[in-house]
Amino acid sequence: MVIIRTDFSLKRFNTFGIDVKANRFADIFRESDIIEIRKQTASNEQILFLGSGSNILFTKNFNGVVIKNSIKGIEEKEFGEDEIIISAGGGTEWNDLVNYAASKNYWGIENLALIPGTVGAAPIQNIGAYGAELKDVFHSLEGYNFDSGEKIVFTKDECEFKYRWSIFKGELRNKFLIAKVNFVLNKKPSPNLTYGALRGELNRVSISELTPLLISETVSKIRRNKLPDPAKIGNAGSFFKNPKVKNEKFAELQNQFHNIPKFEFEQGGVKIPAAWLIEKCGFKGKRIGNVGTHKNQPLVIINFGETSGRRIQEFSVLVQKAVYEKFNILLDHEVNIY
Ligand code: FAD
Ligand code: NAP
Repeated sequence: MVIIRTDFSLKRFNTFGIDVKANRFADIFRESDIIEIRKQTASNEQILFLGSGSNILFTKNFNGVVIKNSIKGIEEKEFGEDEIIISAGGGTEWNDLVNYAASKNYWGIENLALIPGTVGAAPIQNIGAYGAELKDVFHSLEGYNFDSGEKIVFTKDECEFKYRWSIFKGELRNKFLIAKVNFVLNKKPSPNLTYGALRGELNRVSISELTPLLISETVSKIRRNKLPDPAKIGNAGSFFKNPKVKNEKFAELQNQFHNIPKFEFEQGGVKIPAAWLIEKCGFKGKRIGNVGTHKNQPLVIINFGETSGRRIQEFSVLVQKAVYEKFNILLDHEVNIY
């Protein structure tokens, strides 16, 4: 039976630690709960699917039903000689899946170690870090169209994965509940050391000594040293996406700002680290009241105390304006704002 709570505080359910309330809140533990909660939801009621709340900023009370995915579990299926399919329930903690794969010596998600959140939310923005993206190991996902109740399988192409984006962050936002995700992992060694910070940490280790466990532990160490732990200090990781600009626009910027960094992106375009742009506007480690940017990584906006989601949003607009005025680039927020 699904228990529905009313006038429910979401403070413990978002990593910014914002104290707003949901009109109704339900935690679901099995797929049959999805059918049950659908029956108890009016067709005009607002819906919000929630994982661990590590990519959400609440700016007001949620006037509708919040459905938290706690469907857990990991299963394996053979898939040819060198690959394995791992299926995980949408409510499984992402890092538990990374640790599981590393313990079995399966390659593919070790660079994505220590990303907070659930498996079911990982495809939403095609999580990425240290040179890897979820789409590189994605096989398919299963879930429910909440309007019709129909169970649907999505293949990789159907998810329309892009940089920090998928169809579920676009037209299917809060319309499709991801219940299970299937990944194809490699049993043969396939280390990805394209990312400088990771390569630097492992440069004394020979290729034959690399394991998924060593890489995931190294990524976790780098992350712990640089990023604030959301269990101790409220944040939702990178607040903005790295902007992509056309080569011509980059050439103009380079004339003015000679050391502006870039990474090749798609044909005809480059990605500029948003953190660099924000730092150049004087926002690294800047604090206004109980909101500010992190001292090591200005892309991360922090709740230093009992602040509101509105205050955080206002601060983010100041950052956006400063970057726009200096570089004529409009930063797009990565965090989902409600
Ligand atoms: P939530 O915040 O609960 O939800 C995110 C969005 O997905 C919401 O719109 C929600 O409605 C929707 N959603 C959640 N679950 C489902 C579901 N089952 N079905 C349908 N919709 C759903 N992200 C990266 O990509 N790379 C990083 O390296 C990274 N590092 C981070 C570091 C820190 C310290 C923090 C706090 C965040 C970081 N993030 C990173 C962002 C975040 O961890 C990821 O986006 C993560 O996938 C969010 O998972 P969640 O379960 O917390 O999702
Ligand atoms: P960083 O190493 O200081 O690098 C700054 C930016 O440069 C990153 O955002 C990254 O883009 C880009 N970059 C660096 N090396 C690159 C390469 N070899 N190829 C392509 N792009 C490169 O970044 P950081 O803040 O410490 O973060 C490290 C990694 O963790 C990054 O991949 C970052 O995305 C991820 N992370 C994400 C979040 C989040 O909430 N989304 C939070 C913390 C960390 P990309 O961001 O595109 O990789």
